[in-house]
Amino acid sequence: QTALAPHYLDKLNPEQRQAAEHLGGPLLVIAGAGSGKTNTLAHRVAHLIVNGADPRRILLMTFSRRAASEMQRRVERLVAQVMGAKSGIITDALSWAGTFHGIGARLLREHAEQIGLSPGFSIHDREDSGDLINIIRHEMGFSEAKQRFPTKGTCLAIYSRVVNAQDDLDAVLKQAFPWVAMWGPQLRELFAAYVEQKQRQQVLDYDDLLLYWAAMMREPSIAADLGGRFDHVLVDEYQDTNRLQASILLALKPSGDGLTVVGDDAQSIYSFRAATVRNILDFPGAFTPPARMVTLDRNYRSTQPILEAANAVISESKERFTKNLWTERAATEKPQLVTVKDEPSQARYVVESVLACREGGTALKQQAVLFRTSSHSAELEIELTRRNIPFVKYGGLKFLDSAHVKDMLALLRFVDNPRDRVAGFRVLQLLPGIGPGAAGKVLDRMAESPDPLVELLNTAPPPRGSEAWPALLEVVQHLGQGGGGWPAELLRARMWYEPLMEAVYEDAEVRKEDLYQLEQIAAGYPSRERFITELTLDPPDATSDQAGVPLLDEDFLILSTIHSAKGQEWKNVHVLNVVDGAIPSDLGTGSTHELEEERRLLYVAMTRARDELHLMVPQRFYVHQQTPYGDKHVYAQRSRFITKAMLPLFDDMFWPAVKPAAISGLAPAAPRIDVGAGLLAMWKK
Ligand code: ATP
Ligand code: MG
Repeated sequence: QTALAPHYLDKLNPEQRQAAEHLGGPLLVIAGAGSGKTNTLAHRVAHLIVNGADPRRILLMTFSRRAASEMQRRVERLVAQVMGAKSGIITDALSWAGTFHGIGARLLREHAEQIGLSPGFSIHDREDSGDLINIIRHEMGFSEAKQRFPTKGTCLAIYSRVVNAQDDLDAVLKQAFPWVAMWGPQLRELFAAYVEQKQRQQVLDYDDLLLYWAAMMREPSIAADLGGRFDHVLVDEYQDTNRLQASILLALKPSGDGLTVVGDDAQSIYSFRAATVRNILDFPGAFTPPARMVTLDRNYRSTQPILEAANAVISESKERFTKNLWTERAATEKPQLVTVKDEPSQARYVVESVLACREGGTALKQQAVLFRTSSHSAELEIELTRRNIPFVKYGGLKFLDSAHVKDMLALLRFVDNPRDRVAGFRVLQLLPGIGPGAAGKVLDRMAESPDPLVELLNTAPPPRGSEAWPALLEVVQHLGQGGGGWPAELLRARMWYEPLMEAVYEDAEVRKEDLYQLEQIAAGYPSRERFITELTLDPPDATSDQAGVPLLDEDFLILSTIHSAKGQEWKNVHVLNVVDGAIPSDLGTGSTHELEEERRLLYVAMTRARDELHLMVPQRFYVHQQTPYGDKHVYAQRSRFITKAMLPLFDDMFWPAVKPAAISGLAPAAPRIDVGAGLLAMWKK
């Protein structure tokens, strides 16, 4: 409808185009996997910009930082087609693109003073949060060993559920954690202390980023300020947001004008983080007049046989809104259902199949291996390493989880926020001779002081750590004063840290490479604060070559948990361990509701594939089973989500071609050869 002929919209189908061109009120695009939701969203943003919207006033929230930068790139390309903009201009201006948590952190820093936060607040990742809970738990005398008090992981999960679902502790315990329900009063006490400590130390955990943001939006002047600052707010993967996130959106855009959300209820897989599919279903009715709704049912991603199999899996689902998809991508190859003997042979099959596909011209990067749980790829990682095949792993162990990288980041965090006790403990205990006791004393003094940094600089060296003390004070002071600019200050921090590291780690040389890598990554961020915040929230992924992030032009296979594969697509996809006990996971079989989520997870995995899909069924995959007589290990069966009736949709095969001996539900005794009978037979001929 504009003078600038939007020819780039011609590639969209009519429904997609309606969504891209929609003006004014709230818009919901609800559609199945691979129907072009994300693509349409990118076109919509480009279209807005082409028609004069200011990219700096567009807020775009995606599921991962990777997804956000991909979106920026796409928008850039589209806009360039029309306006010939120089590469990078739009991407820079479209700077409010990121995850809910990342955006929340930025807005909170801006408004920190107004809501009683220190702008230097630090952010705790899940591990830090666990450490803090642990410290407090011990101080309060609740111990796992003696009293069978819930573990720190369980405590954290309960806490997180309560705040994200905005539900009552007792209700959450009863519903989701009945086996620790008797600890209700103690947990309440623990969480109160946890919240108090976080406030005193000026640290926010992941959940706080949403909680504080939502609370901030309840202050009318701030809500008006923030709402007025973004003309358009767009959210991808809306099915995986929780109530808090929905309340934030509503507070930003109460009338719904300029608000667009996109999602697929059949792919909702984050209810363990209190995400609720209700958000997407309730969206239209949250406004008067109701939001415009656009549905898409043509899939552009997968071939017909792959889509048919995926549709079959999801159509058994009880609670679903979007309907079956269709595609014009005809193909004769059915998806494979590959039964193998055990996990090592599963790994070998996958490697062979991946290499064969590469021979056929499909780069490793266009292929992915997906699994339910990070540990499931262990066997495969060994095989890939043995065969020298590079890979990158998403959603597993992160670069930042390595102790030395965490040490460095803890130093930066400690300087920014000296009240952060978890960071402080970590830094002080790096010094030879200083243990938890001595560190605790120093931190206690700091906590009581109005200016903890000055207090630290005036602290006499603890008796057993005096040698390394001056160097610590020096680096803290240096960094506290700006450290000679970003990212140069990292070099200074590394100079301080390396001698300490050499004393602790035997493989210090290898680890130095990581620290060097860290500096490279740091160069991509505008400031120390953005660097720490974004790395804590969405860390880079681990690779096979230890280097943190692979070079852009290298080819590598993608390994990913299904959760982290959301929204992405590959030509060739393998799904590991499609067996009961993995998908659905043994944890997931508790209630119908959980079971349904596991089914959607398999659907998400299957719909990542464009041309080739292989579901792997290892016969000797041990799963844990609870019986009235105690726990036992049994061999897994093919996932219940692939029913017998669905088998014709697959190329159902054994690998290697010889069918392995049938295995019953129970582990058989070791194979027995009757040597005596054999010897006797020789003579009886
Ligand atoms: P998911 O549910 O997995 O997030 P999605 O609905 O977001 O999927 P996209 O990732 O946007 O789907 O698109 C899937 C694939 O289909 C992409 O390769 C995209 O380029 C392609 N595609 C989308 N729309 C069209 C179209 N109108 N014409 C051609 N290809 C399209
Ligand atoms: Mg998408």
